Amino acid sequence: MDDLGTLAQLNWYPGHMAKAKRIISENLKLVDVVIELLDARIPRSSANPVLKDLIGTKPHLIALNKIDLADNAVNNEWEEYFSSLGKTVVKINSLNGKGIRQLVTKADELAKAKTAKFASKGAKPRNARVMIVGIPNVGKSSLINRLSGSASLKTADKPGVTRAKQWIKIKNNLDLLDTPGILWPKFEDPEVGLNLAFTGAISDEVYDIEQAAQLLLWRLKDRYEKNIAERYKVAEMPQTSEELFKLVGRKRGFLQKGGVIDTEKTAIAVLKDFRAGKLGNISLEEP
Ligand code: GDP
Repeated sequence: MDDLGTLAQLNWYPGHMAKAKRIISENLKLVDVVIELLDARIPRSSANPVLKDLIGTKPHLIALNKIDLADNAVNNEWEEYFSSLGKTVVKINSLNGKGIRQLVTKADELAKAKTAKFASKGAKPRNARVMIVGIPNVGKSSLINRLSGSASLKTADKPGVTRAKQWIKIKNNLDLLDTPGILWPKFEDPEVGLNLAFTGAISDEVYDIEQAAQLLLWRLKDRYEKNIAERYKVAEMPQTSEELFKLVGRKRGFLQKGGVIDTEKTAIAVLKDFRAGKLGNISLEEP
């Protein structure tokens, strides 16, 4: 079960990647602060390896999203870890709004540092601008909706910007670019590819879901054996990943004619359970 071959060869469409990079570079010129959204369950795998080069010295705020799905103790470890590196970090839930106020406050603080520098050089005062970036499905649109939901005013296109950009006023002095930047994760590392598959960051069509679900269960067994045991009523952990996968299928009643396990249904159910938090709060990476 160590063969990650097919899963590791995920295709991320290089054409889209180049285009995304170009758009992000263009938009970055317009903002003072970048909010990088990471999946709290996989903060390493959901990070973009070249973002640092793209944003240069621009203030950078890390938002750990989907904390409601991740392991709370590990969320705190990640928060401490990023803080220890001197980074500004907040833990958020873009669905229920937890941590969002803190996110806005921190973005505001980082922006102020930047705009104060401009002002000291005699530039005309203007609102600070922020932008949200992150890999697909990390929650960028959800966060923007959340932020704009509480917005008092949607500003019109700003003059002086070549292409029409929509800005959302999220505070008196803080504007958010309404189109997020789509980043691509790092794919060379098979471990990263797997984490992205597990969490649903990449389309289920581009990898073998049965292999992925089997690997996921086996991985969870190390730290979250109790969660699997409870959800699928597994009394004793089998010796191999295949046995565990099939046992879960049997326990869920996914049987075909002749008592053969329906492995496709099993895979779909396991991935769905994990992504919906039905297996409990789980973190796949630690600092
Ligand atoms: P985008 O592709 O980055 O814009 O991601 P979306 O905003 O479309 O979110 C992808 C999925 O993650 C959707 O099903 C959201 O409902 C879900 N989602 C986003 N933020 C959170 C969160 O904080 N917690 C949970 N549980 N789900 C979230």
